[in-house]
Amino acid sequence: MNLDANNLNNIVSLIMKELDKNNNIDDTGQGCGGEEGKNGIFSSMDTAVSKAKEAQVTLFASKLELRERIIKAIREDVREAAAELAEIAVEETGMGRVDDKTLKHYVTVDKTPGVEDLRAFAYSGDNGLTVMELSPYGVIGSITPSTNPSETIVCNAIGMIAAGNSVVFAPHPGAKKTSLRAVEILNKAVARAGGPNNLVVTIFEPSIENTNKMVKNPDIKMVVATGGPGVVKSVMSSGKKAIGAGAGNPPVLVDETADIEKAAKDIVNGCSFDNNLPCITEKEVVAVDSITDYLIFEMQKNGAYLVQDSKTIKKLCEMVINDGSPNRAYVGKNASYILKDLGIDVGDEIKVIIVETDAGHPLAVLEMLMPVLPIVRVKDALEGIKVCKKLEDGLRHTAMIHSKNIDILTKYARDMETTILVKNGPSYSGIGVGGEGYTTFTIAGPTGEGLTSAKSFARNRRCALVGGLSIK
Ligand code: NAD
Repeated sequence: MNLDANNLNNIVSLIMKELDKNNNIDDTGQGCGGEEGKNGIFSSMDTAVSKAKEAQVTLFASKLELRERIIKAIREDVREAAAELAEIAVEETGMGRVDDKTLKHYVTVDKTPGVEDLRAFAYSGDNGLTVMELSPYGVIGSITPSTNPSETIVCNAIGMIAAGNSVVFAPHPGAKKTSLRAVEILNKAVARAGGPNNLVVTIFEPSIENTNKMVKNPDIKMVVATGGPGVVKSVMSSGKKAIGAGAGNPPVLVDETADIEKAAKDIVNGCSFDNNLPCITEKEVVAVDSITDYLIFEMQKNGAYLVQDSKTIKKLCEMVINDGSPNRAYVGKNASYILKDLGIDVGDEIKVIIVETDAGHPLAVLEMLMPVLPIVRVKDALEGIKVCKKLEDGLRHTAMIHSKNIDILTKYARDMETTILVKNGPSYSGIGVGGEGYTTFTIAGPTGEGLTSAKSFARNRRCALVGGLSIK
């Protein structure tokens, strides 16, 4: 064979392509094995935003009926993929429980409000008819967590599309695979319903750098952050309309009037749900002294393991707290896994580790995000309210109480100032699981939208028709 320079170049190029294929890099060079732009996933954040902008223009020009069809398809397809998404998330992040995560997807598709959430309001009189309507922002940038990765993406997508927006997701890098799969499923559902391409987009390589790029892009008209204090602070100082759904440290108060058997069961079930990852789950128990022993006894009957001796408590704390923060190695892990590292072998029937502490103990003060539940004794319910308020630390997120005393229930609800307050039930009743009301995975305490839904992702606009149309 006669090898001239051109031939050589061609051969080198063929070899490079073959190597790239083996390294899972395709022609677009995004390095993740996917096809550029297919199913809403791009290599560049700016491209993702500009494609989402085009899609939003098409959506806004279409009938509301299209949005309804898209949301129906999303509900159907995510329901179908719920277990798959749950499995990928547990495998990828090493956190949580597949069954609970599957349930979280079902709740998301069944109970996240759609277009019906956008209610109009009218003023009418001698001067005419004025209508207040909820109109889209345009392209929304949504930053999502590692703890509920695909649940948050699906829940946000339903609400944001219902309100007429497109959405660019900036997922947690540690939940990249799960998040990209969720975006892929959403895009297929939108296409199946006849919606525009790229209504829901993301990028192949999520990173803080790319997230910041998204926030700064002038075509992003609203930023929604679901995560810890760092990201909430960052979006609130972005100079854009921001929704911040931040950390919590939900206490549960149990007084002497409560149904103790039920309280014990609810607390174990709530605290262990998805291994304590949801921001709303019981993170510490504050119990009136006269019923604390019985509460602990009942919790033990329902899957709690009591760690009692001071040496083991010390070892547990050294394990799960690292430099004053929860040790990531134990975040979202099964109670049996944590106990095994403590030298205690138990079966999966043990869902929560309980330990008595004082109110200032790091296990009580920190948002641990694992099924290790401190129990703090107080002399009465009034002292309990003060302790719970201190532990919630002004986050205004979530709190629970088990009591039949109306005065205590009322005082607790008023004093705690939380976005969610659950009375006589497990924490998850506060997001519509076994409690009334719709579901969300973006609970915006810091910016005040509360449990977000389509109306939170829409602008309030007024159209005044002067001098007519009123038929009063
Ligand atoms: P995290 O704060 O580590 O990450 C959340 C998202 O923010 C990720 O996409 C991450 O990449 C991004 N991020 C983090 N710091 C950033 C910064 N400085 N600038 C830009 N982007 C940044 O949170 P996590 O560990 O994934 O999730 C757990 C936390 O989220 C807990 O504190 C939990 O309470 C909270 N959370 C709150 C809600 C709610 O609705 N209020 C829901 C879920 C989780």
